[in-house]
Amino acid sequence: MEGILEKLSEIVGADFVSNAAEERFIYSRDQGVQPPHAPDYVVLPNTTEEVSALIRLANKNKIPVVPMGGALVLSGLTIPQRGGIVLDMKRMNRILEVNEMSHYVVVEAGASQGMLKAYLEKHHPQLKHSIPDAPPVATIGGNIAIHGSGHLSQSEGGFHSEMVTGLEVVLATGEVLKLGSCSTVPKWFSRAPLPDLVGLFLGWNGTTGVITKIGLKLFPSPKMKDIMMFMTEDVDTVPDILFRIIGTEMAEDMAFFVSPQPAYFDGFQIIMISVVANSVKEMKMRRELICDSVRDYLERKEAGFLPLPPHMKVKLMEAPQKNLSEFADTVRGGGFEYVGAIMPVECIPQAYRKGREITEQLGITYSMGARVIGRGHAVMFYYAYPFNRADAKNMETVAKALEESNEAALEMGGIPWKAEISGQQLILGRMEPGTYKLMTEVRKLLDPNGIMNPGNWEVRS
Ligand SMILES: Cc1cc2nc3c(=O)[nH]c(=O)nc-3n(C[C@H](O)[C@H](O)[C@H](O)COP(=O)(O)OP(=O)(O)OC[C@H]3O[C@@H](n4cnc5c(N)ncnc54)[C@H](O)[C@@H]3O)c2cc1C
Repeated sequence: MEGILEKLSEIVGADFVSNAAEERFIYSRDQGVQPPHAPDYVVLPNTTEEVSALIRLANKNKIPVVPMGGALVLSGLTIPQRGGIVLDMKRMNRILEVNEMSHYVVVEAGASQGMLKAYLEKHHPQLKHSIPDAPPVATIGGNIAIHGSGHLSQSEGGFHSEMVTGLEVVLATGEVLKLGSCSTVPKWFSRAPLPDLVGLFLGWNGTTGVITKIGLKLFPSPKMKDIMMFMTEDVDTVPDILFRIIGTEMAEDMAFFVSPQPAYFDGFQIIMISVVANSVKEMKMRRELICDSVRDYLERKEAGFLPLPPHMKVKLMEAPQKNLSEFADTVRGGGFEYVGAIMPVECIPQAYRKGREITEQLGITYSMGARVIGRGHAVMFYYAYPFNRADAKNMETVAKALEESNEAALEMGGIPWKAEISGQQLILGRMEPGTYKLMTEVRKLLDPNGIMNPGNWEVRS
C-alpha cells in the first residue's frame, strides 16, 4: 500500500481521496445488520478517465475495489469485505442526454433517482423513469447493478435492469467499453440486435466492473394520477385478485402489503393500485374496468375498496413511497433491513404465512409486501425487519430472521434479491454446477486478479 494515497490523489485530487479514520468508519457499514469492515481508502472520481486510471492502479497492485452509489442496498453489498478502495460514484452524477422521441436518457452512474426525477419534471415533464421506493439519493447505477424495480415495473417492462438500453463500463483492467447500440452508432436506444453483453454487469453486485454511464428507458408521464386501495382478510385470494387486475392492463403500479402499523390495518391484506390517465374520462374508464375485474369479490362481500381521503391519496401517490423508511423507526434505533425475494405470484400466501411464523417465533415486528413485476411475471416479496442499532441482541435476532427468510424464499421457489453474502452463498449452493462454473469463469475472464467487490457471488455454501 506504500505510496498509494499519493497516487490516488494524483488521479482524483487530494480533496477526493481519504484514509482518515472517520471516513473509513462511515464507509465500513450500511444501515443493515451485516458486520462492518473498513476500507483502506475512500475515493470519489469525477470522470470515466479517472475511474479507469484508479482501476489500473488497483489492478496493478491487486487492491480490492468496491463500487458504491448511495450505499442504500441495506444488505452490506458495499461493505469492503477485504478492505481496499471504496469507489464512491456520487460525483459522477451528470444527466448527459435526453432523447424525447426515442424515450431514453443517458446518465452517469452516480446520478441519483431524485436528481433524474427532478430533472425530468423540470425539463421534460411529459417523460418519466421508473422510481424505486428507496430514498431519493439511491443512484441509477447502484439500482441497475442489483436488478432493482420501481413504480413502472408492473406496467412498463419489469426490472430496471430490463430498462437499460446501453452501458459504458470500466473493466477490472481499466479498459473502457461501450455496450448496446452506443457501441456501434452514437445513439443509446437499444441493446438489441447485438449480442447482449450488458447483462455481464447487471445483477453482479459490482463484481465484474464499474458502470460509468447508463442509457435508460423513459416512459410517457400522463397528466393525472389516482390510487385505489383494495382490502381483503383472506391472503389466499391475493394472487387471484392481482391476476385479475393485472389482466385489465389499466394499472400503472400494483403493490400488496401487510403491516401491524397503523393498528387499524392489522389483519388486512392491502393491495395498492396506481392508475394514471390523460383525461377525467380515461381515468373513470380505467377505474371502472379495475372494479369490474373484482366485482364478484365485492358482491360476495369478501373484499372491498377503501375510499381514501385526498390527503391520504397524496401521500400514497408519492414516488418514492416513504412508508418503508418510516417503518425503520417503529423500533427505537432506526435500523432496517429486508429480504426481497423474487418469486412467482402464486407464492404470496405461503410467503406471508412463513413471514408471520418467523416473526412470531423470534418475537419481532414484521412488515411484508410484494410489488408486481412485469405483467405479473413475478413479484418482489419483501420481509422487512426494523431494529435498534444500539441493541446487539436485537440485531442478532433480525440477522436470524433475515437468514430464515432467505431460506424460506428459496424453499418455496423464490430467489432472494440483493442478498447478503450468506444469502448469496445459499443461492449458489442450489445453483446448477454448470451455471456456477460459468459465472466463475466469466468473472475470472473479466477480473483476472479478483479485485472487484471480492467476497460477493463467490462461495457456494
Ligand atoms: C426504504 C428503502 C426502500 C427501498 N425500496 C426499493 C425499491 O422499491 N426498489 C429497489 O430496487 N430497491 C429498493 N431499495 C433498495 C436499494 O436502496 C435500492 O435498490 C437502491 O437503488 C440501490 O442503489 P444505491 O445507489 O444505494 O446502491 P449501492 O447500495 O451503493 O450499491 C448496490 C450494489 O451495486 C454496486 N454498484 C453501485 N454502483 C455501481 C457502479 N457504478 N458500477 C458497478 N456496480 C455498482 C455496489 O457495489 C453494490 O453491490 C430500498 C431501500 C430502502 C432503504
